[in-house]
Amino acid sequence: MSKVIVFGSLNMDLSVGCPRVPEAGETIIGSGFLASPGGKGANQAMASARMGALTHMVGAVGKDVFGTRLVQSLVEAGVLCERVRALKDVPTGTATILRAKGDNRIVVDPGANATTHADVVCSAIDDVAEPGDIFLTQLECDLDTTMDAIAYARESGLYTILNAAPAAALPSDVYQSIDLLCVNETECQALTDISPDTETGCMRALMAFSARGVATTVITLGARGSVALIADDMYRIDPFEADAVDTTAAGDTYLGALAAQLSQGMDIIDAMKWASAAGALATTRAGAQRSIPTFEEVRRLLA
Ligand code: ADP
Repeated sequence: MSKVIVFGSLNMDLSVGCPRVPEAGETIIGSGFLASPGGKGANQAMASARMGALTHMVGAVGKDVFGTRLVQSLVEAGVLCERVRALKDVPTGTATILRAKGDNRIVVDPGANATTHADVVCSAIDDVAEPGDIFLTQLECDLDTTMDAIAYARESGLYTILNAAPAAALPSDVYQSIDLLCVNETECQALTDISPDTETGCMRALMAFSARGVATTVITLGARGSVALIADDMYRIDPFEADAVDTTAAGDTYLGALAAQLSQGMDIIDAMKWASAAGALATTRAGAQRSIPTFEEVRRLLA
């Protein structure tokens, strides 16, 4: 059994409901304030640990109450956080969310997440990883750091997974260092200009990533499930039925579960089934980390 090393963001999500978005200079009364641990890196690490993988988190928070809470949340889920630095003079990353009906507005302040440079990630890899371990990352930290870290992880013999979220233009040479690329519909469209809304669109987009040098690509399609290109063949994993109430962190849960199952030696198709079941369960509960299911819940759904 290998380990999962996640390099990525830790954010406190601060969200408040409001009857409408306030005008410039206006103050309005809202309700239902929630401060909940999130950040794509942290969410994926939590999902990986909940699925039973030995999971290390690499990242940074501020030396403040949000940072303490975020690390505590991961530790409680079994994530090893020795490589999460708590930094003075920089705030923990936050996402400030105005929940107005049908018109959510979000401002992300990366804070400490932006301060991690490649040397820190590379030395974490040197210290905790062994060849065959899984390196999982996303695009919420510094882009150059992330690209350098992927290349270093690959050179060190790790299996590299990039969740290209949120969408950002990537340097063309990174694709060859990615063993498994995972994108959702929006990210797929942004990176290839191809919409995966039809079978043909999925195939064309998957082939486009393959032509850039990615070994295996997975596209998640929300309630339509997910597809993958494996050695020139397209595989479709049907979604599990879910009474979806909030799709926040469905993608993160999918990624964490996928990485965890691959680390336990499962083949990619079976790992995608696990990830789909975990993603479906995450939509049945509100919030980010609080919606991530346990191993037992996923096992029951699969059975
Ligand atoms: P993201 O959150 O990154 O946009 P998706 O919405 O594509 O990611 O969701 C990731 C995975 O979670 C999907 O591939 C699917 O397996 C599962 N999922 C998401 N939404 C639903 C849903 N409404 N019903 C069932 N499964 C879902």
